[in-house]
Amino acid sequence: MGGESPRARPRRKQAAGGGAGRGKDPGQRLADISRRLCARFGRPAGCAHEKDPVRNLILTILSQNTNDGNRDRSFSSLMRRFPSLSLLARANSLEVEEAIRVGGLARAKAKAILSALARVKGENGEFSLEFLREKPLSDARDWLTSLPGVGVKTANILLLFSFGRKAFPVDTHILRVARRLGLVPASADLARAALSLEPHIPGGEHASLHLNMIRLGREICRPRNPRHEECPLLPICPEGLREMRKPRRT
Ligand code: SF4
Repeated sequence: MGGESPRARPRRKQAAGGGAGRGKDPGQRLADISRRLCARFGRPAGCAHEKDPVRNLILTILSQNTNDGNRDRSFSSLMRRFPSLSLLARANSLEVEEAIRVGGLARAKAKAILSALARVKGENGEFSLEFLREKPLSDARDWLTSLPGVGVKTANILLLFSFGRKAFPVDTHILRVARRLGLVPASADLARAALSLEPHIPGGEHASLHLNMIRLGREICRPRNPRHEECPLLPICPEGLREMRKPRRT
């Protein structure tokens, strides 16, 4: 789940759904996409993200700019070295860096984790983010993205998988697929795509659409040589249809 710039921040004014319409209501189009992906891949049972919000926040910070394997290795190493959040919060930055080195960007991530823990404890008196459950979605997201190193993708992962909120995290795979489908403009970045798509996603589909779009991006709608002819979204994908109409080289 890497790829988000730590500097990514929400825009106060949300984009108006990008090009998601393409002759159809954006909500209908996203429902259609979700249905087609579930028909191909099934409805995902869950994901590897921690349910506990504070641990999920740490895991998500560790996921930036690395792959899932290194994210999990650095999280396990950190939890082994500091079995409780209070021990971790009292650690010095170098110890934390050492424990998470396998995931890369260790200095920046250690700083982000320690700052986040200090802020959570300082504002709530405990290592808990439960207060976010009651906040309006945009306020909860604003609070999370005010933490150093936490962008919209990280905040949305937490809001979706720890709190079951209707947030839609967009990673580089989802962004590529959404651009090719014409759901967002080619110029959209991760944060803009997330904020423009999120309100149009049918209730209850945020998690499965997130996970299935990532799977589509990894297995079929790859950065190079996308496999249009095998794609369940081909009938509704402008780029796929355009590419398929081009004469084949012999
Ligand atoms: S049809 Fe092609 S471009 Fe469109 S989503 Fe599928 S693989 Fe990607």
